[in-house]
Amino acid sequence: MPGATSAVGAGPVSGTVRGQRSTASPRRSADPGDAVVEWFDSHCHLQGAYLSGAGDEAGGGAPGSTAVGPGDTSGPGGAPPGGHALAGVLARAAEAGVTRLVCVGTDASTSLGAIELVRSLRSPGSAARAEGVDAWATVGLHPHDASAGVAATIGVLEEALAADDLVVAVGECGLDYHYDHSPRPAQREAFAAQVALAHQFGLALVVHTREAWDDTLDVLRSEGVPERTVVHCFTGGPGEARRCLDLGAVLSFSGVVTFKNAADVREAAALCPMDRMLVETDSPFLAPVPHRGSANEPSRVPLVGAVVAECQGVDRELLATTTTANARQFFGV
Ligand SMILES: [Zn+2]
Repeated sequence: MPGATSAVGAGPVSGTVRGQRSTASPRRSADPGDAVVEWFDSHCHLQGAYLSGAGDEAGGGAPGSTAVGPGDTSGPGGAPPGGHALAGVLARAAEAGVTRLVCVGTDASTSLGAIELVRSLRSPGSAARAEGVDAWATVGLHPHDASAGVAATIGVLEEALAADDLVVAVGECGLDYHYDHSPRPAQREAFAAQVALAHQFGLALVVHTREAWDDTLDVLRSEGVPERTVVHCFTGGPGEARRCLDLGAVLSFSGVVTFKNAADVREAAALCPMDRMLVETDSPFLAPVPHRGSANEPSRVPLVGAVVAECQGVDRELLATTTTANARQFFGV
């Protein structure tokens, strides 16, 4: 049935983060014959600024500016398409087997927002605990927002990293020469500073790159590629995939891989070793087929995974299990 997600339940979550027990509780599919499949959304934005759909101005441009991908209709560079209430988002995620997610910051405000959100999701009685969904945060400065007060923002991120143990990665950060919302030297400065932060705190690095492959890989090479580096929302073809993999990075595939005009991204998904890939939604952006144009949410990561599984020639259960294990190892959760 096109577009249908099978009703899979989420299994017990046994992961720990820096000594904290997981908050998740076991869920089972209504049909005992269904395999228990768990997915990990490695990159989404669930902070209020994004869910409200009003964050483009409020967040200094970051929330609306992270969408990338060929022909995306959900507004690259524009306002988010409007979101859903958080409780519903979490319930649908759990129903789809998406039991873990990483909430990503793009500037000082949304980075602190990611931490605050994750802390509330982990608190007793939260909707996430009730649904068995576990969450972690990243802090970062998106290239679109790299022009104003880079040093000050990096200072805020550094403070947050030092103070909080719910942060599992630095980013998203990188270079975006498609929109060029910030001057390129400022983008490179912000990116290099965050690569240094990842090294300093021994954390994973989440990279955003668009039409800037050469410079992105140059900055990574010159600053030293962090051991755990992901090129998020991978939109390149086989050539770019090989370059990233050669550098030691993993690739994270988003709804873009489902787009009709993204054959080159599917080629990249076919050649990427399965132990070097993650899956993500980049919610609320980049809703996969058949939901393009609507607000995206973590419950749709299985639609991304199903297409990646097809590219790999494996069943979706194996893809889910492998990418979930990859993400847990990658983020150290
Ligand atoms: Zn993003």
